This record gives sequence, C-alpha cells and structure tokens, in this order.
Amino acid sequence: MIDIEVLIIGGGPAAITIAKNISNRKKVALIRPEDYSMIYCAMPYVIENIIPFDKSLKKDAIVTNTGAVLIRDKAIEVDFESKSVVTAKGDCYTYEKLVIATGAVPLLPPIEGSSLKGVFTFKTEDDLKSLLAYRDAGIKKAVVVGAGAIGIELAQALNNAKIETYLIDMKSHVLPQMMDIEMVKDTQDTLKNSGIHLILGDRVRALKGERAVSGVVLENGKEISFNADGSDSEEGVVVFAVGMKPEIDLFKDTDLSVEKDGIIVNEKMETNIKDVYAVGDCVQFKSGISGNVIGGKLATNAVPMGKIAAKNILGDTREYRGFFNGAATKIEHYFIGGTGFTEKKSRENFSVVTGYAEFTTAFPVMPFAKKVRMKLIADKDSLRVLGGQVVGGEPVTDKVDLITMAVQYGIKVSDLVHFSYSAQPYQSFFPANNLMVACAEEILQKVKNVS
Ligand SMILES: Cc1cc2nc3c(=O)[nH]c(=O)nc-3n(C[C@H](O)[C@H](O)[C@H](O)COP(=O)(O)OP(=O)(O)OC[C@H]3O[C@@H](n4cnc5c(N)ncnc54)[C@H](O)[C@@H]3O)c2cc1C
Repeated sequence: MIDIEVLIIGGGPAAITIAKNISNRKKVALIRPEDYSMIYCAMPYVIENIIPFDKSLKKDAIVTNTGAVLIRDKAIEVDFESKSVVTAKGDCYTYEKLVIATGAVPLLPPIEGSSLKGVFTFKTEDDLKSLLAYRDAGIKKAVVVGAGAIGIELAQALNNAKIETYLIDMKSHVLPQMMDIEMVKDTQDTLKNSGIHLILGDRVRALKGERAVSGVVLENGKEISFNADGSDSEEGVVVFAVGMKPEIDLFKDTDLSVEKDGIIVNEKMETNIKDVYAVGDCVQFKSGISGNVIGGKLATNAVPMGKIAAKNILGDTREYRGFFNGAATKIEHYFIGGTGFTEKKSRENFSVVTGYAEFTTAFPVMPFAKKVRMKLIADKDSLRVLGGQVVGGEPVTDKVDLITMAVQYGIKVSDLVHFSYSAQPYQSFFPANNLMVACAEEILQKVKNVS
C-alpha cells in the first residue's frame, strides 16, 4: 500500500496540468502506462518530416520537475470505498483525492475489414511509428477517413510524403464541426489542387483484403484499390480520424456517473463521488453557449479543466465555464479557425444572423499583404455573438480567440461595432476597418433592415 495525497490517473495535458499546479503543495503521483507522453498535435508534422520523431515525445521532466512522482503503470481497478487504485504491475495506491484524466481513444468503426493489417487510428506513439514504417517502406496509397482537423493535417502530411492520398468524409464539406461550407470552399479546391483525392458526402462501407488491407469500398459502390492486381502486398494504409470516445472502461462496474461522452462532472470538476475529480477528454461537459452537453475533446479544454481542478483541490473556488471550442488548422497556404457554434449548429437553438468581411493581413499597399476573411454568427433576438470563423493567408488564432472572448463574455454585435482596435502597415488592414467590426456592422444592418 502506497499512500498518495493526490493521485492522478493519466499522462496527457490534463494530468500534467494538475501536477504542475499542485505538486509544490501536495504529495502527488501520476500513473501513466506509456513510455512517453506525446505531443499529439505534432504527429502529422513528423510524418511530413517537418519535425523529427523524438520532438513529438514529451520529456518525463515535464512531470518530475514539478515534484510529482511518475509511475509507469496502468490503473486496472479503482475502489472508491477504500480510496485505492490497483495497477497492472500489482501495486496498490491509496489516495486522499483522486483525479481521473484518462483521456479519449480514437473511434474505429466496426466495419468489415477494420481489423486488417494496415488499418489504423491516429493517436498513440505506436500509431505514429507504424505509419512512419509504412511511409519509409514506400507505400503507394493512403486513405484517410474523416476530414476534421486531424484527418486534414494527416492527409496533407501523407500527400507531402509523396503517397497518393484519398481524404473521405460523409459530410458535404471539410471541417464540418468547425466551419460552415462557404468558408471552406476555396480551401477544398486547394486541397484537391495539391493532389489529394477529396471525396465528400460518401462513407466507407468496407475494407478489402485477406490479411492486409488492399482497398476501400465506398457506400456509392466505388472502390479504391491499393494494388493493380488486388493482391495483399501491403501497398497502402487506411487511417480513421473519425472522432474520439472517452476512455472510461475502467469505471464500468463502479458507481461513477458516466454517459456516452464521458464522466459527468460539475463546474468544479468534481464527480458524483466524494474526493474524486475528472478532467480532460474523459469528461462530458456542457457548451458555454447553450448549456447543453457538447463534445469538447481538445487540449485547449483539457488544460483549463486541469487548472480548475487543481485550484479546487487546493481549497480555492474556481468554476469551469463550459466548452467554446476555439480551434484551428491549416490547409496548404490557408490558415483556418473557428469558434463557438457554426451557423448550422446555431440554427438548432437560435434565430441566426451572419456577417462577413474580407480585408488583408497588412495594409493592402504592402507587397506581402494576404487576404483574410471572417464570418460572425449572432443571435438575431439578443444580438449576442454565437460563433465565428476566419480563413486567411497568415495565422488566425489571435482573431479566433478574440471572437471566443466575444462569445464567452456574451458581447453583442451592437457592442462590437464600438470595438477599439489597432492598425499598422505590417500587421493589419488600414485603420479604416477591422474584420470583427465590419462583420458586426453588417449584422446590425441586416437586423435593422428586417425590423
Ligand atoms: C493527432 C492529434 C492532433 C491534435 N491536435 C490538437 C490541436 O491542434 N489542438 C488541440 O487543442 N487539441 C488537439 N488534439 C486533441 C488533444 O490532444 C486532446 O484533447 C488532449 O490530449 C486531451 O488531453 P487529456 O489529458 O484529457 O487526455 P489524453 O491526452 O488522451 O491523455 C490520457 C492519458 O491517460 C492515460 N490512461 C488512460 N487509461 C489509463 C489507465 N487505466 N491507467 C493509467 N493511465 C491511463 C493514457 O494512456 C494517456 O496517457 C489532437 C489530438 C490528436 C490525436
């Protein structure tokens, strides 16, 4: 029996955040099965050879330097009565407070052929190593299923590694959770022009092959074959990037309250069991906009949840305000980001009005100025901002984050028209205009015209 004040199950960003924020005040231990924590976001760029493999692995010092003890093991049993955790190596730890940060695992749809050799999901060090091995063996074709940010980044990486790449999504446009269709039309053309075969509005029905995957059959009957003779010669891979499910099997036969999207927590990140917290991708929480349950499996959600749990464990009172889901990706020379609700999602709960603006990333007279376009989505009745999207020739996360602030703090478009901004030839459009203000003006105008 080893006594720990705060025991954390997990080794991802949520767990590491707890360790960083608490270990100087409490005796903390973190249980993690992997040899290394991964920088998941960096994985596509390893395949593309932009960064070396070992740079995608986090150093253990990130945990041990906080003063926390790192236990390389897997929790296999949790007893909330006796406040103890048993591990695969047979050790037993007792805790005063337990933090569950077990994350999420990628979904592998149960379709015919999904257990064939050469079929992957994309999250672990092993996934990355396997794909690198296939890349280095000179495979000819790759099929990526799911055109969310992970699928898009992976497809581009494989394509840039000179593998003929197919990107398939059942939705009618890429990034369906983050962007509305009109904002990504141009970027889709760019993806196609880069050589990627983009197939939208179709599903993978089955994977072909005896031992290794040799092709993909789509719902519409079309087939993608990896080898001209249809043989099993490992000339292609299929990677599913179709979403994540919470890693909560460990708690199947316990009293912990869980639902489809994860462990149920309150604003303090407390579960239904005393002294047990849960944070990160393993948690189900609500939208900061509608208050309804919504997915939020992002590192930028996991880290704040970890910080809030740490503060509460230390006796502070801090409350999590919900998922807003600001996120970004890159398609060739386009930087793309979205936050809050898309127009489509907004229409489920609100009467919606939208505004658009397009300017340049620097004064248009500057030779390097690039186009940047914004869409703002608002509730017609309250004028509250519900979400926004940005596509431009330079990084957009600063603009996305500004929109998130408007969404998060309930700012109305009637306030945004008064937004006081800065301008300089290298860094912004002329002082005459600002993207967010222009979008807000258009929305206000539309609302006035109908009222
Ligand atoms: C390819 C890729 C790219 C991404 N890009 C971005 C991005 O650009 N921006 C962004 O915000 N997010 C991104 N994400 C999502 C982000 O990585 C996750 O939201 C984040 O890692 C969640 O952190 P977490 O700590 O909750 O869970 P995880 O990082 O999943 O960590 C969970 C940990 O718990 C451990 N664990 C599970 N069960 C047990 C057990 N029984 N015992 C002990 N340990 C256990 C796991 O092994 C793992 O170490 C990306 C994800 C992927 C896969």
